[in-house]
Amino acid sequence: MNGRMTSAALQTLEARVAREIEMTAHPRTEWMVPRLHRGQPALDVLIVGAGQSGLATAFALMRDRVRNILLIDRAEEGREGPWVTYARMPTLRSPKDQTGPDLGLPALTFEAWYDAARGAGSFERLYLIPSGDWHDYLCWYRRVLGLPVRNGVAATAIAPGRLDDGGRCLLVTLSTGEVLAARKLVLATGQDGTGEWWMPDFVRALPADRRAHTCEMIDFERLRGRTVAVLGAGASAMDNACVALEHGARVHLFCRGPEPTLVQRYRWLTFAGFLKHIGDMPDEWRWRIMGTILRAREGFPADTYKRAIAFPDFTLHLGCGWTDARLEEGGLVIETARGPFRADYAICGTGIRHDMRLRPELAPFAGSIALWRDRYAPPAGEEDELLGAYPYLGPDYAFLERVPGEAPFLADIHLFGIGATLSFGASGSSINAMTTAVPKLVAGLTRGLFAGDLERHWKSLQDYDVKQVEIDWDRTVRG
Ligand SMILES: Cc1cc2nc3c(=O)[nH]c(=O)nc-3n(C[C@H](O)[C@H](O)[C@H](O)COP(=O)(O)OP(=O)(O)OC[C@H]3O[C@@H](n4cnc5c(N)ncnc54)[C@H](O)[C@@H]3O)c2cc1C
Repeated sequence: MNGRMTSAALQTLEARVAREIEMTAHPRTEWMVPRLHRGQPALDVLIVGAGQSGLATAFALMRDRVRNILLIDRAEEGREGPWVTYARMPTLRSPKDQTGPDLGLPALTFEAWYDAARGAGSFERLYLIPSGDWHDYLCWYRRVLGLPVRNGVAATAIAPGRLDDGGRCLLVTLSTGEVLAARKLVLATGQDGTGEWWMPDFVRALPADRRAHTCEMIDFERLRGRTVAVLGAGASAMDNACVALEHGARVHLFCRGPEPTLVQRYRWLTFAGFLKHIGDMPDEWRWRIMGTILRAREGFPADTYKRAIAFPDFTLHLGCGWTDARLEEGGLVIETARGPFRADYAICGTGIRHDMRLRPELAPFAGSIALWRDRYAPPAGEEDELLGAYPYLGPDYAFLERVPGEAPFLADIHLFGIGATLSFGASGSSINAMTTAVPKLVAGLTRGLFAGDLERHWKSLQDYDVKQVEIDWDRTVRG
């Protein structure tokens, strides 16, 4: 298919998108009036993070006619999220038929875009979605929906503020020094949005050119002919092992447990009952079910494993965690459960750890945010320190106060990242759950905005005088 035909197909699709949005536009009445901060309109919603979660949230808000919104992302345009940066897999791991950002509009699905962009029937022939294509789809989605994004700016601080009429708002400081006033704030800041990409302290203490986390940009060319030790046996650890092998490195991957995760429990939870309602279930069930799933960690797909074992220079060590590491005679010596191991470079595929004190924008009030360990005491045998550090969110994805009355502004900060997973199951930072989780988040936002405007709505009802019928008083006998 040549470029002209492709762009004609895309134009047709874009017209279909516009038509589908129009056909599903009910209720059409505008209902938001900007509230002022220092004489200027405050944003109704500021979304931090313009990855897939932020974009889909913005689209859902705009469909609900909440359009005085802004997305910001610290990444440059086209570099948001992991897909073309540190996601080192050729295809997505999730099945191609998992819809998400489209929020139910057929013309906005990946399938519709892929067929228009790559030629009719392309989606049918596809096995898994190439990561670069998923990224291109998100870029198209942002453009075709006209989502208001500012790139290259980070949110660096959040503080409570007051609107000119005395109502609540948040003041968000940007890396540019500007301060934005917003009534609601959505943190769609991705996997590490409530903590950090974690690695053991003894690895972190190694010189920066000798170690990396899988989330970092790594110069794999430098690793040619070298011995690379990878800690962790999750999907990203294995992806990084593969890229190192493809660059001619010898790779030893160390799994701490006796076996890697072979059963992907995240697949199990993909049914409407769970996705829609786990967040409404009692704490003990959310803890038990999500704990079981989260503790299992994400295993590597079969294709990723095949990609690695195709190389004779790949060795998988099981039941072999690391206890220490040091630089010795120009090389790394890593102490493992089976004695010292010599390598040139270490990569940690050790995931994330939730600790909001580590996020500059959350740190000043992190201690005021309720965590699961503040709200729920698991029965003996089900304790888990890592799970206890997840934020315990309200039904609208907002942070709750650890001590009521201490930080009421938390009610306007809504978390739509991986930190929401213990409260709601797969939700933020998930393609799988987007079709159910985004509408729920957005209903929470609009509920808050509506509640904050009740006085105005009450007045508007009292002033409402649109007559349905003009009575012909000449034909009427009044008593
Ligand atoms: C390597 C990898 C592979 C994955 N593969 C799959 C898969 O195959 N299938 C699947 O369903 N899921 C997958 N996931 C899970 C999930 O779909 C992704 O993490 C996805 O990127 C989540 O989207 P998001 O919008 O929540 O976060 P992100 O895409 O990470 O976007 C967050 C954005 O927030 C910005 N940001 C963060 N902090 C600030 C700040 N303070 N100020 C301004 N901007 C900020 C970042 O720059 C980033 O662009 C994968 C995750 C990873 C890490």
